[in-house]
Amino acid sequence: MAQILPPDLLELLACPKCKGEVRLREDPPGLVCVRCDLFYEIRDGIPVMLIEEARRYSEVVGGESSGHTP
Ligand SMILES: [Zn+2]
Repeated sequence: MAQILPPDLLELLACPKCKGEVRLREDPPGLVCVRCDLFYEIRDGIPVMLIEEARRYSEVVGGESSGHTP
């Protein structure tokens, strides 16, 4: 399987909210902040590092959201 992002690019990226480390996820393709659990989608090979566009990773992968607060 082809690499979604070059590793050196991944090292440069950080969560725009907390400046924390982000981890690559492949399904769906995106970056997840290890601190605040925000998921930044990768569109056409480009990570969308915008807080307004980010979603909670637990919501992205769906399923059992236990304590969902509006
Ligand atoms: Zn963060």
